[in-house]
Parts: sequence; C-alpha cells; structure tokens
Amino acid sequence: MRKPLIAGNWKMNLNHLEAIALVQKLAFALNDKDFDKVEVAVLPPYTDLRSVQTLVDGDKLRIVYGAQDLSQHDAGAYTAEISGAMLAKLGCTYAVIGHSERRQYHREDDDLVNAKVLAAYRHSITPILCVGEGLEVRQAGGHVAHTVGQLENALRKIPAEQAQSIVVAYEPVWAIGTGEVATPEDAQEVCAALRERLAELYDTELAAKVRILYGGSVKSGNIAGIMAQPDVDGALVGGASIDAGEYVKICRFSD
Ligand code: PEP
Repeated sequence: MRKPLIAGNWKMNLNHLEAIALVQKLAFALNDKDFDKVEVAVLPPYTDLRSVQTLVDGDKLRIVYGAQDLSQHDAGAYTAEISGAMLAKLGCTYAVIGHSERRQYHREDDDLVNAKVLAAYRHSITPILCVGEGLEVRQAGGHVAHTVGQLENALRKIPAEQAQSIVVAYEPVWAIGTGEVATPEDAQEVCAALRERLAELYDTELAAKVRILYGGSVKSGNIAGIMAQPDVDGALVGGASIDAGEYVKICRFSD
C-alpha cells in the first residue's frame, strides 16, 4: 500500500522567518488523522532548511522536508554547491532532482540528473525525480516515450535496493506554473507508463512500491480528480504550496 505524498516546492520564495511562519500554520491546521493518511513534505530554499529543521525537531512535527536540488559532488571546490552530506546533516528526507526549471534554466541534462540521483542515495536522501515533456513533444504525441526515457536515464546504475524508495514526479512542462493542469486521464496515462517501465527495469513488486506524483498547476480545486487515478500517488505542488490554507486543502485532497 503506497502512502500518498504531497510535497510543496516553494521554489525561490520565502525567507527563513516566513518559512517558520508557514510551517507553523501547516502544523496548526493539519492533525494526526491527516498525517496518518498522507505524508506532507515541504521543500524550501536551502537558506530556510536550518530554521525548518529546528522547528520540526523542537516541536516534533510530523511534517517532513527536503531540498529543491543537490550537488552531484560530495565535497570540494564547487563554489555555491550544496552536497547531499550537508542536506542529510540538516535532516532532509528528500531532494528534488531534475526539476524542469533546472533542466531549462541551468541546462541540467539526463547525465547530470543521474549523477545527482546517485549522490542523493550516497547520503540516504530520497530523490524526488522530476520527469515530463514540453508542449512540442506533447503535441507531437511523444510524451510517454520522452518521459519514460528520462526515467530510464535517471536510474542508470541505481540498484533495486535504492530504486525502490525513489519518488517520481510526472510534471508536464507545459503545466508548470501556467494554470494549465493536465487532465486526470493525462496524468494517469503517463504515471501508468512510468510504473510499467519500472517493472521492466526492476520487477513488478518494486514498481508497485514506488510513489509516482503528478505536478503542474495543482490546486485544491483539481487535486481530488488527480488523486482518484490508480497510478497517481500524490502531488508535487509549486505555486499553491506557499499559501497555507490552499496547501492544507490540497493535503486533504479537497476544496
Ligand atoms: C513545480 O514547481 O513543481 C510545480 C508543479 O509548479 P506549479 O504547481 O506552480 O505548477
């Protein structure tokens, strides 16, 4: 049985004081019943992580957290990079890897994404691996092949013991931050294909364990339809995750 995961990608928003305020609001609004039903994660900027860690540990909150990226290197002369070891020390459960904004604005390719997945596992950080097609690929009907190809490349040299814990986020690029959400059927089609490929790469048992999220303009008004799909195990939420009231509703799969 896969526990659903709602993960909030704050992107480059909220300083450490605002981060504390938002996590406090979430912790106040969500209760044990919610946390029994769904895993709730926040993915703040690096500069907020220490504050979030202090709050979560101090108040024994059931919210988990992670980073929006990590370096493929473990230490050394890599100015401005943040290693998996550093994130692990900050208590991060997750790191987003291969977000389309990293692929697009920082030219991250599948090889680098694969190196970052390997780096995350070296430090016991669970990757939230983002895959998804752009508009042109979708219009040409190549979305499944493109997305499954990204998954395959990201998992090179990753043994089953590690791959079984990965979180995959299907994020069609044309739906990110655009207000244009994929239909639940679109999300299901690709998430099912990703699971099928996991079964081929590893086995059906592993594929049945892996959580596959949908991301792209998720809001309280569309989350229920997305969560009703059999191969969708949660959501990676961008814009709507920095609004406490809206994010709480999304975590409850309802408006
Ligand atoms: C994201 O950044 O991963 C995302 C899905 O953004 P948004 O929800 O704003 O489309």
